[in-house]
Amino acid sequence: MRVHVADHPLITHKLTVLRDKTTPSPVFRALTEELVTLLAYEATRGVTVEEITIQTPVTETVGVKISEPRPLVVPILRAGLGMLEGMVKLLPTAEVGFLGMVRNEETLEPTTYAERLPDDLSDRQCFVLDPMLATGGSLAAAIDFLFQRGAMHVTAICLLAAPEGIERLEAETAGKDVTIVLGALDEKLDENGYIVPGLGDAGDRLYGVV
Ligand code: URA
Repeated sequence: MRVHVADHPLITHKLTVLRDKTTPSPVFRALTEELVTLLAYEATRGVTVEEITIQTPVTETVGVKISEPRPLVVPILRAGLGMLEGMVKLLPTAEVGFLGMVRNEETLEPTTYAERLPDDLSDRQCFVLDPMLATGGSLAAAIDFLFQRGAMHVTAICLLAAPEGIERLEAETAGKDVTIVLGALDEKLDENGYIVPGLGDAGDRLYGVV
């Protein structure tokens, strides 16, 4: 598993505003979108392309286009939805699927409660959107789900991660082609599973407490 932590002052600046508890939801949503577009630039570095010949006004030249099958973007409900616009802004031709994961309070294991994805993901490059990589349980389950459907490579884009989540993901995705792109790697998880210093509950901050 490759882990890429973005190291850019604009990203750190925007993350600082996100972390601030006085930042209101509309600003939080707008900044999340901007941050994801910046992270997507790094995350799509390995997107598969093929050569095409085109005619400029001056001459013929060879360029590239994104290969088929088109990349698939998969936001994890609910907080991952807040990252979707920022991602498709950079990759407008991608297809979008949805995965809803919830933790079973008895087994503490994540289960899938909603799924809208192609049955066959063979040869697909998949981009999973999940803002907070905390324990890593739901992201590991989502990545496993995509590989079981035949995905070729999975890149997860997260705003923040805890070292505990990275470690679990590393163990659970061993041998698979996985890349994680992060806005920042934080200190730890607290006893309630929140990332420290973190930004609180990303879903609540995006959409309010329901
Ligand atoms: N999910 C969140 O929204 N925030 C955390 O800190 C951890 C998990």
